[in-house]
Amino acid sequence: MRTSQFHLVTRKETPQDAEIISHQLMIRAGMIRKLGAGLYTWSPLGYRVLRKVEQIIREEMNASGALEMLMPAVQPKELWQETGRIEDFGGQLLAMTDRAEREYFFGPTHEEVITEFVRDEVTSYKQLPINFYQIQTKFRDEIRPRFGVMRSREFIMKDAYSFHLSAESLEETYRLMETTYTTILARMGLHFRCVLADSGAIGGSGSQEFHVLADSGEDAIMYSDSGEYAANIEKCEAVSLIADRAVPTAELSEVATPGKKTIEDVAEFLKIDQKQMVKTLLVAGIDGPVALVVRGDHHLSEVKAAHLPEVATPLCFLEEQEVRKLVGCDVGSIGVKDLNCPIIVDLTVANMSDFVCGANKEGHHLTGVNWQRDAEFTQQVDIREAQEGDPSPDGKGTLKQARGIEVGHIFQLGDKYSKAMNAVVLNDKGQAQALQMGCYGMGVSRLVAAAIEQNHDDNGIIWPAALAPFQVALLPMNYQKSVQVKKTTDELYQKLTDIGVDVILDDRKVRPGFMLSDFELLGIPHQVIIGDRSLDEGHVEYRHRKKMDKQKIEHAKIADFLQQQLSL
Ligand code: ATP
Ligand code: MG
Repeated sequence: MRTSQFHLVTRKETPQDAEIISHQLMIRAGMIRKLGAGLYTWSPLGYRVLRKVEQIIREEMNASGALEMLMPAVQPKELWQETGRIEDFGGQLLAMTDRAEREYFFGPTHEEVITEFVRDEVTSYKQLPINFYQIQTKFRDEIRPRFGVMRSREFIMKDAYSFHLSAESLEETYRLMETTYTTILARMGLHFRCVLADSGAIGGSGSQEFHVLADSGEDAIMYSDSGEYAANIEKCEAVSLIADRAVPTAELSEVATPGKKTIEDVAEFLKIDQKQMVKTLLVAGIDGPVALVVRGDHHLSEVKAAHLPEVATPLCFLEEQEVRKLVGCDVGSIGVKDLNCPIIVDLTVANMSDFVCGANKEGHHLTGVNWQRDAEFTQQVDIREAQEGDPSPDGKGTLKQARGIEVGHIFQLGDKYSKAMNAVVLNDKGQAQALQMGCYGMGVSRLVAAAIEQNHDDNGIIWPAALAPFQVALLPMNYQKSVQVKKTTDELYQKLTDIGVDVILDDRKVRPGFMLSDFELLGIPHQVIIGDRSLDEGHVEYRHRKKMDKQKIEHAKIADFLQQQLSL
């Protein structure tokens, strides 16, 4: 490709609304342009990368035996009524109505559509197991679309759905998808981690996420510093930090804590450690309010809390007014003694003694509180977020935290969808049996951003070899006027093109400095600078985008040298 025949529009300025580096660089390099909130156009340059991501995924999915297909993006509302998922997806669903007043959603995911396909198409166990996939545009009306294509509303996903007669067969394909995802991300040259995950609105019994590790990642990942254990913080088990409850030593007493509303304020005022305090949070329950209690220095896990059968979903904290009506004090003074609602405490809290909590009286706290003697809890369960330094739940080492970008999520769904939609097959005894199902998503467009997030420097993108829009850039100085520069460049261009290298020749009439910094921004891995002065000395200059030091290469040997670099 010659830049004169390509579309290359780079920008010097960092766009104002781009918070993270991948978004900034994708705009500056001209890979994407915003059309509206969470809607992006992929330019020819950006699309080349998107296609490379797609192709690697496609090759590895095919190699796993999965079958590519294509389902409609627009889905009839009735299908979603069959599974009852309209509520689960809530505002994320983009609804539309046709001229006959029939209602549809633009698909955010395709479990319903594939199950509808399979219940008609797959009737015998002899057709199983089978794994279908597609690469397609999805729409989710995200509350906060941001970070460019990282969290957009319209995006491209690879989604696969497998069907089985038995849970063992499902487990087998699920493991195959785990290794397939691992191969895909390794081929892309990304640093990633597979972690235990919460299954969210998709449901099912177990799931794992694949995270590209980057400081800007929206997810927190907990991993053991010595073992295998790794989990999204939403899912990470938080063990009790106190082995046994000590016997009470302190008297119960009430202290005034005027105007002290937060745990920090109260701890400072009473000159105690936050670890001696508990935090009581009131949320809406199935039958009236429920109190959730975590240690002062811990955070409630909203995901774990929302999974409690007693708690209403989505999780909803009581408003100040409701708290006043129920308890008679402000939110900061709620405590566990004489609280008139079910009290669910975290595992660590259950083993605390001589602790401090609100007195259920405006501006007052209780010290020396002890379970059984002064208050009772209804239930003890893991409801806090794990944090760095906690013992790893598998008993090996302690937990550390990293940030990750979720690029893939694999699920064992079991019979959730097949039961709801009556997708059955006949087994070898001729009896109807509900299908077992798995589903496997991968964020194609998000992967492009994630790759940049992990591979860049102050001057621009540093593409991993497998994703670069072009492998080699030929950067001639004075191409328009110098006969020898033009001849050398054209010959090299031809040679590389002939052997199938993705090469871009910059034949624009621009200043050398401009050209060089443009290609730093674009992140093309191998760059050859061709100028009269070096040609007179019999060589050209080579720089690798990652290392950036210039190397003199004998003019006659540059093609071989590049082939070596590209391991062709
Ligand atoms: P997230 O927690 O980031 O919202 P999710 O759990 O909703 O993701 P899935 O339903 O598992 O995502 O979808 C499969 C994959 O699609 C995700 O792993 C992610 O890579 C990608 N994806 C999901 N939502 C978006 C989005 N708004 N923009 C870009 N990619 C997305
Ligand atoms: Mg989501």
